[in-house]
Amino acid sequence: MSALIIDGKQVAAALRERLAAQVATLPFKPGLRVVRVGEDPASVVYVRNKDRAAAACGFDSATQVLPETTTEAELLAVVRALNDDPAVDGILVQFPLPAHIRQEAVINAISPAKDVDGLHPINAGLLASGAPALVPCTPQGVMHLLAAAGTPLKGARAVVIGRSVLVGRPVAQLLLAADATVTMAHSRTLDLAAECRRAEVVVAAVGRAGLVRGDWIAQGATVIDVGINRGADGKLTGDVAYAEALDRAGAITPVPGGVGPMTIACLLENTVKAALARRG
Ligand code: NAD
Repeated sequence: MSALIIDGKQVAAALRERLAAQVATLPFKPGLRVVRVGEDPASVVYVRNKDRAAAACGFDSATQVLPETTTEAELLAVVRALNDDPAVDGILVQFPLPAHIRQEAVINAISPAKDVDGLHPINAGLLASGAPALVPCTPQGVMHLLAAAGTPLKGARAVVIGRSVLVGRPVAQLLLAADATVTMAHSRTLDLAAECRRAEVVVAAVGRAGLVRGDWIAQGATVIDVGINRGADGKLTGDVAYAEALDRAGAITPVPGGVGPMTIACLLENTVKAALARRG
């Protein structure tokens, strides 16, 4: 059996289309502000893509670029001004930040109501307590892909590999909220292969190429590969040994073209959600 390949580009495009149609009916344009500090080449590309996608969906979107030498206090002042700006519904500060700025201080300074990255401890706490929250974009994208694959989650055994605040933890919370039976695996898990073999859903968010072998995947399981690893040849691969897993999985995301494209679409989704909540 060869797995259904879950096309993240297509799912993301459909989500952006739905959002654009929704935004066209609103009496205002959702306001998204992205702040980039310095010229990290990957961040320059990400931020440009975010801007383009937001504009294409009818958002009022702008990027503020600050020099590498910006101090933490200066960046916090920019964030506070955006918190106070009534035209702004969503704030995203692009990471990584220069080493002299504490990422945590910046996350904590963003108003939870405008925290479209979903990283503020208030939003993480709401998610953990099962209350409505702004959810981190990549985990939200994982849930959209599971829905697109038609994977039943109620009662399903799901293994999430990786426990980061950005990906693993929120994915596990979202799966729990969808009534899955969730195991969180990580670098200290004793028998990762055995945990995976029991699961109908495997989400890998580690950052190690080919860590999850094909024979760890139960026949027919859905596999969502969040990992992005750049090989010596410059090619991107995921955390799952894709060719091996294809023969066993029922559905699987490719890398690239799986989870990656979902992140920006979910950022726009969060911005609409924040705008509607804030503006009533
Ligand atoms: P992280 O380094 O913060 O966390 C990695 C997690 O993997 C840790 O919790 C650690 O316990 C676990 N881990 C490490 N080695 C392990 C092992 N041998 N076995 C089991 N678990 C192990 O990384 P992150 O920010 O959560 O990102 C994870 C991956 O997802 C990276 O490859 C990152 O590039 C990718 N990512 C992709 C997107 C996207 O849009 N597709 C977004 C964010 C992150």
